[in-house]
Amino acid sequence: MTLFGLDNLPYGVFSPAGGAPRVGVRLDDQVVDLSVLLDDPVFATGSLNAFMAQGRDRWAEVRERITELLSTDVPDAALHPLGDVRLHLPIEVADYVDFYASEHHASNLGRLFRPDSEPLTPNWKHLPVGYHGRAGTVVVSGTDVVRPCGQRKAPDEAAPTYGPSRRLDIEAELGFVVGAGSTLGSRIGVDEFADHVFGAVLLNDWSARDLQAWEYVPLGPHLGKSFATSISPWVVPLAALEAARVPLPGQDPEPLPYLREHDGWGLDIDLVVEWNGEEVSRPPYREMYWSPAQMLAHMTVNGASARTGDLFASGTISGPEKNQRGAFIELTWGGREPVTVKGEERTFLEDGDEVTISATAPGPRGGRIGFGEVTGRIRSTVTA
Ligand code: MN
Repeated sequence: MTLFGLDNLPYGVFSPAGGAPRVGVRLDDQVVDLSVLLDDPVFATGSLNAFMAQGRDRWAEVRERITELLSTDVPDAALHPLGDVRLHLPIEVADYVDFYASEHHASNLGRLFRPDSEPLTPNWKHLPVGYHGRAGTVVVSGTDVVRPCGQRKAPDEAAPTYGPSRRLDIEAELGFVVGAGSTLGSRIGVDEFADHVFGAVLLNDWSARDLQAWEYVPLGPHLGKSFATSISPWVVPLAALEAARVPLPGQDPEPLPYLREHDGWGLDIDLVVEWNGEEVSRPPYREMYWSPAQMLAHMTVNGASARTGDLFASGTISGPEKNQRGAFIELTWGGREPVTVKGEERTFLEDGDEVTISATAPGPRGGRIGFGEVTGRIRSTVTA
């Protein structure tokens, strides 16, 4: 059964051999050129932003029209084998925010970073904790990641040193793409999610743990994460995820009214993390404590506007089991419990390592839909 049938139809930006970038949808192992199929200049641009800005009614109308056309004869000029095209970053990223919505991940990181305190900070169950990341360094799957340099100081060292990160890690996450924005001074209510969010991507929040541990107090992550964030090339529309909706695992204490949903839902998405081709983890999105709608409501509750192309990510997805942890710092417990990758004991990323995150979710009528993958390889530090 295909993961990319008519029930999915994720959007991306591609260029055929010798052609300019344009918008397409993936159907099985083919890419359908929407600038040809629908003959609309909004799809002849190098990003999804112009189409996303047209809003929810238009997204529904286009999806319906594509489904109808693809059920009949598709003109050859609109079809390209997936292997013959180049995939680009699907959106022009406006702002990028990263949350921290997994209780299992936040508890594990709390134990590792602050062993003498409570694992969860006092605010954690009252608001979806997040930070502002760097939109300009969001890259498409397949882009190499250069090992970052910076200051690092181990607890037993007297002073920091400068050099390439020695604890380079991944964070397996889901990213949500804002299609229709909001005005400055207004807020997006917790029940208005579907009016604003266009779809979801897989996201790898590459993290240099040694840089992060030294710099993050008191203002949060900075250079330990801003060097690169990878996303999958296909944006799965929210409409394709309806069958994947599940109740949240439960929130106690009850959040403040602006975070209370009438019909709150999480997503039953199964991720797989492969390290140099070997599966090391299966993070379950359904375990996430805060819902995507709560994240968006919180992000705008102060009147901050959202814009077309805003990307907000869930935070590392980790489940209760060891083999469900979405970051290597958790999987190897701070590097003290190595995992075996292709016969070698490993803790953090080495130059040449490749990490691939893929995911599937329930689709309509008992089928499944795919997100494709986000992959990246570590390149050694560029030295002058
Ligand atoms: Mn993250």
